[in-house]
Amino acid sequence: MAQKKNNWKRRIVGLLLMYVLMFVGYQYWQKKVEERFEYEHMIAVTNECIRVGDWKCAEKNVRELLKAEPNDTNLQMHMAGILFEQERYQECISYIETLNFKHKDLDYLVEKSNLLEQEMAQLGVEKSMHFRLEFDGGPSKKDVMEALAVLEVAYDSISNLFDFLPENKMSLVLYQDREFQGVGARPDWVAAVFDGKLRVPVNLMAYREVYRPVLFHELTHAFVRSMTRAKVPLWMNEGIAQVIDGSHNNEERPAGASPSIESLTESFVKESNTAKATKLYWFSKRMVEELLRRDGSGLEAFRNFAKCLQDLRELGTDGALQKYYGTTAKDLLESVR
Ligand SMILES: [Zn+2]
Repeated sequence: MAQKKNNWKRRIVGLLLMYVLMFVGYQYWQKKVEERFEYEHMIAVTNECIRVGDWKCAEKNVRELLKAEPNDTNLQMHMAGILFEQERYQECISYIETLNFKHKDLDYLVEKSNLLEQEMAQLGVEKSMHFRLEFDGGPSKKDVMEALAVLEVAYDSISNLFDFLPENKMSLVLYQDREFQGVGARPDWVAAVFDGKLRVPVNLMAYREVYRPVLFHELTHAFVRSMTRAKVPLWMNEGIAQVIDGSHNNEERPAGASPSIESLTESFVKESNTAKATKLYWFSKRMVEELLRRDGSGLEAFRNFAKCLQDLRELGTDGALQKYYGTTAKDLLESVR
């Protein structure tokens, strides 16, 4: 009898132990899965921050990831690049010195960091409040200072217009381009480009009548990008940039049929057919003007447009247009035909 009781006891203890072990094991496994999930999620967020040039967000995330994987060389390379992109050249160089591996990209960052500091010193240019500067082709100090002065003014006025202060500095490449001919057959604002970095030929400064609109135009694109990570429909982006650059006012409606909303949404910046490109730009501007007009075209109208842009990611184009203007892209196009 006593034997049987002991067996029972042993069995219960065994079962309990098994449950406890299973429970602990499950908890451990679940924690690992969660950690893995969190890690993967953080990598996705980091990649997105890097893609849109949000370096503060990228740095925060990479630092977290490095805590989990301190010897991950890929993360270390990203860290170096992120410091470089934030103009923290000395910090970037020091960081690379602490790494115990070599890579040509790291050599490049060290070389470029030294060169940029040198160029800034030679030109006597202070670090800019809002722009992270790079130079190409040895522009003169006078051209650099003039471009920067115009850009800083433009930055302040666009920032005020949208009531939006970008989190990160904007990357600006000032380059000396011998090929640059000023006004050509292309629409003149194509002279400078925004491809994630603002690229401005300093020779542009010699063409007083064009450089202001060009810089305002490109800077608007830079603001649009810092306001949303959504893929902005081209007509919204080119439309607002033209409204703000103030050029191409009072141009007559191009002849022929109206473009489709699809052709206005996809990229037409590289459209080689000039007549077609002109038409797309014209309709873009009209559509955005129409949105602004519905809010009275004043400061509030621009701020509302900025809010609409910021909601694109969550609501989609028609969702955001519906929320802020009670319309859709198609109906809007219809109303400006
Ligand atoms: Zn543009």
